[in-house]
Amino acid sequence: SSSVFNVTVAPPDALFGVLAAYKADPSSQKVDVSVGAYRDNSGKPWVLPVVKKVDAILKDDPTLDHEYLPITGLPEFTAQSARLVLGATADAIKNNLVASVQTISGTGANHLGALFLSRHPPTTSAGPTTVYISSPTWPNHKQIFTNVGIAVREYPYFDPKTLGLDINGFLGTLESAEPGSIILLHACAHNPTGVDPTQDQWKQIADVMIRKNLFPFFDCAYQGFASGDLDRDAWAVRYFLSKGVELLVCQSFAKNFGLYGERAGALHVISATKEISIAVKSQLAVLQRSEISNPPAYGARIVAKVLNDPALFEEWTNDLKRMSGRIQEMRKALYDKLVELGTPGTWNHIIDQIGMFSFTGLTPAQVGKITKEYHVYLTSNGRISMAGLNTNNIDYFAKAVDSVVR
Ligand code: PMP
Repeated sequence: SSSVFNVTVAPPDALFGVLAAYKADPSSQKVDVSVGAYRDNSGKPWVLPVVKKVDAILKDDPTLDHEYLPITGLPEFTAQSARLVLGATADAIKNNLVASVQTISGTGANHLGALFLSRHPPTTSAGPTTVYISSPTWPNHKQIFTNVGIAVREYPYFDPKTLGLDINGFLGTLESAEPGSIILLHACAHNPTGVDPTQDQWKQIADVMIRKNLFPFFDCAYQGFASGDLDRDAWAVRYFLSKGVELLVCQSFAKNFGLYGERAGALHVISATKEISIAVKSQLAVLQRSEISNPPAYGARIVAKVLNDPALFEEWTNDLKRMSGRIQEMRKALYDKLVELGTPGTWNHIIDQIGMFSFTGLTPAQVGKITKEYHVYLTSNGRISMAGLNTNNIDYFAKAVDSVVR
């Protein structure tokens, strides 16, 4: 039979394919370190206590209904979200230079930011603009920019020899990029490597980017979740901001609020003048209208409640410390076990890296082996989600790693 659709089967999403294989594995010892979602010490999803509390408050709030939010989202959510990432005392906020729009979590913020730049490329760019993404990066970055017709190139980022940052390669590519190019930067807790620039390195990066008129596109998916300190994790964004450059920030509340499925996020575009900022916001609203009309209410209500209430905010920071603290303990425990086992290689990178993920250095062949022989599930690039480890499986996991690298 014939079809009007000229399509072939697309390859399954690499990450969600691994998760499906994990779920189908009947072994009682299986370990999932693939997907980047927080798990508690018993391997279960964790609803933040502060979110549970706000859930109950919202349930009993007689003023709430299911009407549409404004096109650009819940104002008390977007305003506080901007203060959270840019800093409550930021000049850009005081001077009305920030255009904020609520988005479908961080993915939607990346998409809306990319779409906006495809329609309104930086005027410093001579021809069609290009985006530079880190090698490697969150795989969706490439798809998101390709979908809106922006050409994608890479800058060196991870050095497999040192398992750290290739700062010279990174700076060299920035030096040679066309003015007006977009540079995608992970604000903190780089996914997938867990390798972040130091503050000194960020200053070098900013220097080159400002000198070369490169546009900073910050993706901030882990604020507070990385170090446990909201200000420290926003340092790079605020440093660029302090230099007075125009930039944009994509913000996700999936990880730091555990609101993965509620799709709470925001896009903040910082412009040079108040007049431009008003125009930017109006254009973002036009784009948003044709794509989703109005963003989802529930997650934004939870986040807004917490960010606008000092007592709830304080509770949230404790929840953040609990998540980031447990992950840091797992890094230390894994490092200690591998050293104790005398596992070949150096393992400092496990404790030097930050955030949800660690790039272990396991080769695709070793990943194949650890999955087949030990029922340990991770992507073939050797990335592990630290949140998948806990006091019950860490010995088993370390022994499995030890065995496949020998
Ligand atoms: N950017 C990066 C770098 C990420 O790691 C993620 C989450 N995997 C996101 C954006 C967006 O996730 P979400 O749409 O769930 O907020």
